[in-house]
Amino acid sequence: MMIIMKSTATADEVQAVIARIESCGARAHPSRGEEVTVIGAVGDREHVARLGLEGAPGVEQVVPILKPYKLASSQNREPTIVDIDGRRIGAEHFSLIAGPCTVESRDQVLTTARAVRDAGASLFRGGAYKPRSSPYSFQGLGQEGLRLLAEAREETGLPIVTELMDARDLEAVVEVADVIQVGARNMQNYSLLAEIGRSGIPALVKRGLSSTLEELLMAAEYILKEGNPNVLLCERGIRTFETAYRFTLDLTAVPVLKELSHLPVIVDPSHAAGRRDLVTPLSLAAAAAGADGIIVEVHPAPEEAICDGPQALYADTFGEYVARVEQAAAVAGKVLSSAPA
Ligand code: PEP
Ligand code: MN
Repeated sequence: MMIIMKSTATADEVQAVIARIESCGARAHPSRGEEVTVIGAVGDREHVARLGLEGAPGVEQVVPILKPYKLASSQNREPTIVDIDGRRIGAEHFSLIAGPCTVESRDQVLTTARAVRDAGASLFRGGAYKPRSSPYSFQGLGQEGLRLLAEAREETGLPIVTELMDARDLEAVVEVADVIQVGARNMQNYSLLAEIGRSGIPALVKRGLSSTLEELLMAAEYILKEGNPNVLLCERGIRTFETAYRFTLDLTAVPVLKELSHLPVIVDPSHAAGRRDLVTPLSLAAAAAGADGIIVEVHPAPEEAICDGPQALYADTFGEYVARVEQAAAVAGKVLSSAPA
């Protein structure tokens, strides 16, 4: 159920509705927009219906939500703007999240962080815990990688996006992460999603390799349900019969997710393509299609990268890429949001 409050509703009236929702064991998720406050009631539909909130003071309308993802649904919601330390993502704000696939060394991390910041990226990415297809491949620097990310943040001021693979590492990762990445392979790790929801740290949830958009939105729902409203959806390519490139970037997902959900949509062209030469065209298409941001891999020396080198953009020419993506985002009516003053 969604309870839409009148534009004249007072804070006390909103509070009273929340209290009544909670009195029947349901959870209330208020979302305070510029004009109106909308309260999502998640719990037993019958119990909430019996409260008879239609006539309550300050209530405009009570509407059932038909989608299984009640909190992620766009129904009666304005687009969400996720604010990461002053960097806004969503609505007219377009964001670039850039950095290496994985943290390899102090020099590599700091060189890349400075380069992407100077070029206009607003967040820095880098994995300390890596989900690798082979257990024999490099698995990430772990704690040492987190320490280097903290140093990059300190030095450049860029907020950090880094992956959490195992809930046992949550405490260490939240020390450093401004946004926790949920990798494609963990999109349906429901206990991990719920933990991230409880942590309250903004999350970037990548679409599973073979997941539908509804499954992605249900993954987001696990985080939202715990009271964490800051979720970014990420299209990163899906498995199809095509073998000419690594995955098929499903750009149709961008307008469709934005129709189904109020959450910002980020596109990852790097993992979809698996090849550097495809990253720019896919980025331009994603930005022009209305994505709220792009997460892209950048490395100072891709030929020496421990993982995903063939798809990494060169750090020293990243500024040219940013200028082109900025133009494509403008086509969709969006402005590149860089670091706050
Ligand atoms: C990554 O971002 O480095 C990564 C491994 O992504 P994905 O989970 O989409 O494969
Ligand atoms: Mn990678």
